[in-house]
Amino acid sequence: MTGRKDELAANLARVEERIAAACAAAGRAREEVTLIVVTKTFPASDVRMLSELGVRHVAENRDQDAAPKAAACSDLPLSWHFVGQLQTNKVRSVVGYADVVQSVDRARLVTALSKEAARAGREVGCLVQVALDAGVSGRGERGGVAPDGIAELADLIARSEGLRLDGLMTVAPLTGEYAGRERAAFERLMDLSTDLRRNHPAANMVSAGMSADLEQAVAAGATHVRVGSAVLGVRPRLG
Ligand SMILES: *Cc1c(COP(=O)(O)O)cnc(C)c1O
Repeated sequence: MTGRKDELAANLARVEERIAAACAAAGRAREEVTLIVVTKTFPASDVRMLSELGVRHVAENRDQDAAPKAAACSDLPLSWHFVGQLQTNKVRSVVGYADVVQSVDRARLVTALSKEAARAGREVGCLVQVALDAGVSGRGERGGVAPDGIAELADLIARSEGLRLDGLMTVAPLTGEYAGRERAAFERLMDLSTDLRRNHPAANMVSAGMSADLEQAVAAGATHVRVGSAVLGVRPRLG
């Protein structure tokens, strides 16, 4: 193994231990939580090694980086998640490789995703990104829709050709009433998921938790954690 692959294997093992311990502490089965490795800013060679190490879900947040990486890794058995703020002019490209878009936060984006998914003959999974720090604008600083906007967006996704409503995603807020209270933020997301599933029982994905707070997310009931730096190391540049 190369040095880098050893490093990734060791990091993955540590993250796996953390997830397993968090599941055990919460009385949850390990299989209830899926690890998504956020590979943004890291090269396709890392993605390939992660695949060889057994990773099955990867996430990216910028189409410019993700599109060539996904193309270079198209022979690998990976699911690609898009987790960044998404402009409608990038939607055609993203639909070309993304299995799930986790950052759906406005109707215009749903319309664009549906049009391109239908055009490509693909089904794209969608998570509504929830901003628990949304201001009066109803939107979060890092994307996301305020909780009272979830139902309308979810209904729109559910009736859009080429799209599948999979659930909810959030990033723990840095500001507002949930700043520094990750566990409370993730519990709020779980409550919102319970509400959503009354009308959309299959939309049971809850994506929450990153390197610093995956334990809190697992404790709250997250089904998917998105872990970047704890697996790949400190990112070479902001992403
Ligand atoms: C970068 C990113 C992550 C991973 O963050 P780490 O702190 O590196 O684990 C998770 N979710 C989203 C939306 C991200 O942009």
